[in-house]
Amino acid sequence: MKHVIIGAGPAGITAAEVLRRLDGEASITVLDGEGELPYARMAIPYMLSGGIGEEGTLLRRDADHYRMLRIDIEKARAAAVDTAAGTVRLADGRVIPYDRLLIATGSVPSRENIEGIDLPGVHTCWTLADARAIVAAVRPGARVVQMGAGFVGCIIMQGLVSRGAELTVLVRSGRVVSRMMPPKASEMIARWCGTQGVRIMGKTQAARLERDGNALKVTLTTGETLPADVYLSVVGVKPGIDFLAGSGIAIENGIVVDEHLRSNVPGVYAAGDVAESRDCLYGKHQVNAIQPNAVEQARIAAMNMVGRDVPFIGSLAINVLDTMGLISNSFGQWEGEEGGTKVEHIDEANSRYISLQFSGERLIGASTVGFTDHVGALRGLIQGKVKLGAWRERLLSDPSLFMAAYLAMSEKLA
Ligand SMILES: Cc1cc2nc3c(=O)[nH]c(=O)nc-3n(C[C@H](O)[C@H](O)[C@H](O)COP(=O)(O)OP(=O)(O)OC[C@H]3O[C@@H](n4cnc5c(N)ncnc54)[C@H](O)[C@@H]3O)c2cc1C
Repeated sequence: MKHVIIGAGPAGITAAEVLRRLDGEASITVLDGEGELPYARMAIPYMLSGGIGEEGTLLRRDADHYRMLRIDIEKARAAAVDTAAGTVRLADGRVIPYDRLLIATGSVPSRENIEGIDLPGVHTCWTLADARAIVAAVRPGARVVQMGAGFVGCIIMQGLVSRGAELTVLVRSGRVVSRMMPPKASEMIARWCGTQGVRIMGKTQAARLERDGNALKVTLTTGETLPADVYLSVVGVKPGIDFLAGSGIAIENGIVVDEHLRSNVPGVYAAGDVAESRDCLYGKHQVNAIQPNAVEQARIAAMNMVGRDVPFIGSLAINVLDTMGLISNSFGQWEGEEGGTKVEHIDEANSRYISLQFSGERLIGASTVGFTDHVGALRGLIQGKVKLGAWRERLLSDPSLFMAAYLAMSEKLA
């Protein structure tokens, strides 16, 4: 059996390892489009803050790991997939056949459509190459203008500030992490950033970038201009699927997969950030772009690729964000549902916030700021779809009792 995996991130590498464990004879080829040793993007913030070196980002440290497992890592990009012929065409023109194909190409950063976006000094923050360039460019006192304050925008602030950057963050919507946190929580996180020396500018964005001597001139939509040594464009990501045009593989927000991580084309699977799979609460299809989800989907996909019948229970949207030491979390349907019930508790003085979202007797979503202990209990209550009974009222009057609720529900959750 010849397995080809496109992508050498956490999903691709996990799948290759599981395939080898289950089939000692199979041929396993992983295509790595970046020419790096397989690494974890989620380690990049630690590299930016100097907590780890490049080697700390590697998914597997042992240089012989892949050779020992007879996993062939090909430093080559897939340019097209011919599902009728069962082949992948590489960017260098070679064509490789597959019996089973796993697409694990993750996401690619969205590109701002503004003049000057290709100038030197402009970077995204998605790949190891980006991280190297940022480390080289951000010297103490460097003026950094960052467009975007989503998950990645927030998680990299610590690294930039600890390198001595004078950081200004432009937030188009006016709300930091608006796709993860309710307005009040966003406001608290933005205020916290201010106390840490980061200037947040809401309701504006870059309109144009120009060279100005050795620096950049950033012209905002308000007309104001900012000088910058580095411009960081972190405006979100989209699934890495461009090379699949014409392949017949069904794509919506990502590659649509069933509960066995199969695409609509026989023998073709997808896992990780590139896959749109069902969520565990309602069975709705969504891309859930976090590493634990990528790894779990890859594990299940690999089992199905060798002929086992293993369903994926569905993903739960979870985000755990560290914004310069302020921890925030969101779980499940954090925005709630129409007709649902919600409770919000705000403690401005201590930068603590919690909101819970209920559907009938069940907890379906939660957001927290400043809570670090026991937040996994919120995930347990949501994922367990447990009927809370009298605990619903207790949580509505004091949402911080979620751990007590979890313990009280433990029998139902077991
Ligand atoms: C700065 C940063 C911080 C993050 N922090 C967290 C965090 O704290 N927690 C968390 O859960 N997640 C975090 N994430 C997200 C996490 O990194 C992703 O969810 C995870 O990497 C997804 O794994 P994946 O294997 O699906 O895709 P990726 O890791 O994106 O890997 C995709 C692979 O496919 C390759 N590829 C793409 N196209 C092609 C092609 N055409 N041909 C060949 N190869 C190709 C790429 O080179 C790469 O090797 C963070 C991401 C970033 C950038």
